[in-house]
Amino acid sequence: MTRCQWCKADIGDAASATSVVGTYVDGRPVRFAAATHSLDVGGTPVGLDDMRAYDAASQIKWTSDDARRLALHAYDGSPLSSLEWVIFTVAFVALPGFSGILGTVFYLAWNKSQPVKARQLLRLGWIIFAMAVVVIGVLDYTHLLPGT
Ligand SMILES: [Zn+2]
Repeated sequence: MTRCQWCKADIGDAASATSVVGTYVDGRPVRFAAATHSLDVGGTPVGLDDMRAYDAASQIKWTSDDARRLALHAYDGSPLSSLEWVIFTVAFVALPGFSGILGTVFYLAWNKSQPVKARQLLRLGWIIFAMAVVVIGVLDYTHLLPGT
């Protein structure tokens, strides 16, 4: 398994389908390969630094803001800080029945701009939900819940 040199995402070695994310000033398509995180202009490989320079010089007409963010790795790839771990863990544990759904909501809201944090919150939410299900199940089985 190799990793993207820019965002550390796992990427495959296989050649994959590319998607057109914009148009260069001379009319050639700008493409981004999702599986390899590589960029090309009209079939010629272009590095991220060069592509960012083209973008800074307004030489690329992007198909959308999301396409630009994706192709330029122009998002926040930082993980949750220690404080954020504590805050979200406490919040999810306080609402264990909703933690999976809340994690999913955060994921959908932040996946584009902060994908690493978004994935961590998705996982955290569902892990706490699963733990809550197990704990409640054990308490119910052992008749330790009120009224059981
Ligand atoms: Zn990448």
